[in-house]
Amino acid sequence: MKKLVIIGKGPAGISAALYAVRGGLDVTIVAKDGGALQKADKIDNYYGFDGGISARKLLEDGENQARTLGVQFVTDEVVGVEFAESGFAVKTLSKDLEANAVVLACGTSRNVPPIENIEKFEGRGVSYCAICDGFFFRKKKVGVIGNAGYAKSEYGVLKNIIDDVTILTDGEQPSFDSLPFTDKKIKSFEGGEKLEEVVFEDGTREKYDGVFVACGSAGAFELAKKLGLEIDGNKIVTDDKRATNIPGVYAAGDCVKGLQQIAKAVYDGMLAGTQAIQYLKKN
Ligand SMILES: Cc1cc2nc3c(=O)[nH]c(=O)nc-3n(C[C@H](O)[C@H](O)[C@H](O)COP(=O)(O)OP(=O)(O)OC[C@H]3O[C@@H](n4cnc5c(N)ncnc54)[C@H](O)[C@@H]3O)c2cc1C
Repeated sequence: MKKLVIIGKGPAGISAALYAVRGGLDVTIVAKDGGALQKADKIDNYYGFDGGISARKLLEDGENQARTLGVQFVTDEVVGVEFAESGFAVKTLSKDLEANAVVLACGTSRNVPPIENIEKFEGRGVSYCAICDGFFFRKKKVGVIGNAGYAKSEYGVLKNIIDDVTILTDGEQPSFDSLPFTDKKIKSFEGGEKLEEVVFEDGTREKYDGVFVACGSAGAFELAKKLGLEIDGNKIVTDDKRATNIPGVYAAGDCVKGLQQIAKAVYDGMLAGTQAIQYLKKN
């Protein structure tokens, strides 16, 4: 049976799973939490619920519906997606999931910390992807911004090729020990054409050639970058059937352009799930 891994259990991920599992695929959803619906209260504008429905209930019912049809769920944080023999390896904090095709349904978030000049130095010292850009910083000094599992994972990727790597927790408590870190709050990035210094709120400055942003967990933007997906702003670019520029990879819901609404996420998920079935019949 061909394996589809879906990242995200919001309306887009669940909808993709419902179509894919009923179409005969072995479907696993990996998600770290309930996404946007977890923050919402009552949903009044979705078809079929006279008087509205609690967002939590909608989320739970979607998950139960998918489970009943045979979808497997993994609660974990995805830190990357890589090409592998089977097609893809979806890498989580604890394991690798093998996939013949992948649907990214990870919602909107792009974790950009409010540091002065961060956007100015994007692509000129500031990166969102260790596996994509780490190579350019061999024999240089780099930092990883973040304090949790994703930062630790990006640190590990960089350490394979760069000696001088420090985690910058930006004022937060690190959730790990035994890795080199500084917990000073960052004020700004400074430099000329390229990033040269990190300036801290306490007035101190340190030389850095590069910083890799890995705050919180990887969102759709960061995962897309690692795979080499086309991005427009912070949205993944797809065709009108939710296929990305990489065969076998689909994107659906809030991580794709358009209205950020449940109905649209469900529609996108349907397209991604059905397209994955078509793709895996031929490949
Ligand atoms: C407060 C609020 C109120 C809203 N009210 C309405 C409303 O009334 N009507 C309406 O139509 N829409 C409403 N929305 C919008 C709606 O919730 C979203 O459009 C919809 O949930 C998008 O679905 P999605 O599946 O694309 O993403 P999400 O529902 O955000 O799901 C994203 C999934 O990806 C997972 N994920 C992300 N990154 C990772 C990672 N690295 N590893 C593992 N898992 C990951 C998350 O855990 C989650 O499971 C509201 C949103 C909010 C925040």
